[in-house]
Amino acid sequence: MIEITNLHAEIDGKKILNGLNLRVDAGQVHAIMGPNGAGKSTLAYVLGGRPGYEITAGSVVFDGQDLLALDPHERAAAGLFLGFQYPVEIPGVSNVQFLREALNSQRKARGEDPLSGGDFLKLAREKAGLLRLDMDMLKRPVNVGFSGGEKKRAEMVQMGILDPKFAILDETDSGLDIDALRIVGEGINAIMRRPDKGVLLITHYQRLLDYVRPDVVHVLAAGRIVKSGGAELALELERDGYEAVVA
Ligand code: ADP
Ligand code: MG
Ligand code: MG
Repeated sequence: MIEITNLHAEIDGKKILNGLNLRVDAGQVHAIMGPNGAGKSTLAYVLGGRPGYEITAGSVVFDGQDLLALDPHERAAAGLFLGFQYPVEIPGVSNVQFLREALNSQRKARGEDPLSGGDFLKLAREKAGLLRLDMDMLKRPVNVGFSGGEKKRAEMVQMGILDPKFAILDETDSGLDIDALRIVGEGINAIMRRPDKGVLLITHYQRLLDYVRPDVVHVLAAGRIVKSGGAELALELERDGYEAVVA
């Protein structure tokens, strides 16, 4: 599904990713853990195509395409979804407007017809139900005045509506209370746990992985994957810390 080979990236002349290799096959969930400043968010941004990063070496093949050659909107239309550590607020634009626009622009890029207002609302209602988010919340401006947990649940509604092939979720569990964590975890499973989809879950804590069981856990340190293992590696990291496990 996605194969990252020898990826090197820098920002403002500072090297952040240093020869990162990672392959996620269809049907798999991989977790990335690692100390602060290791380059986890940078990896997510580079894959999403955020401006400002210079790729100095390496390649990323996504679903048979050269991902790094695509614009951010082309990447999204190709089925890549990025969940952000800090979701942005968009005053003056309702979630419903924003989501319908996002979905229909992706459909257009794929040569598909736009979804009608009625069909879109039906889809939005279904996904909001999955994340236990009231439809009234989706009529409010994007993320404005939302709690941390509501932002993350709204983002998962967005993921459900866009129905991506591959999702990169950057600290989706940050700021979630226990109930929201379970709802978001179950939402990720319902939307993304399919044989034709893949997930890269960036997290600091084992707790989200209790709901979304990873097939592979990686440790990212100093811009590279330094260790990989099964779900038990996350427990080991939580118990012993990064330094002990990576040393
Ligand atoms: P993580 O998500 O693993 O905590 P990040 O990818 O956010 O780490 O950051 C990796 C490193 O890149 C950090 O040392 C951070 O300070 C640095 N960094 C991020 N953005 C910039 C920037 N715009 N200019 C310079 N350094 C940056
Ligand atoms: Mg961080
Ligand atoms: Mg980060």
